[in-house]
Amino acid sequence: MAIEVCVRCGARTVKTDKCGYCGRLLCVSCIKSSKKPSKTEKLCICKDCWSKMGKRAEYKRVGARPEREEY
Ligand SMILES: [Zn+2]
Ligand SMILES: [Zn+2]
Repeated sequence: MAIEVCVRCGARTVKTDKCGYCGRLLCVSCIKSSKKPSKTEKLCICKDCWSKMGKRAEYKRVGARPEREEY
């Protein structure tokens, strides 16, 4: 298995996840949260992007299915 290096903290890891907002490959400890909007998709957000309100709000919207839309 290939060892990859996390671009954020430099940790060596066999498992990286790609942040859906900055596109970097990061180790699990740099990923703040992840979810699966569908069976084939996986969306991760890193700690850096999580600290940016706009990106965090965007992440929280994904996969949210309100029963009705209010305007
Ligand atoms: Zn890391
Ligand atoms: Zn990110």
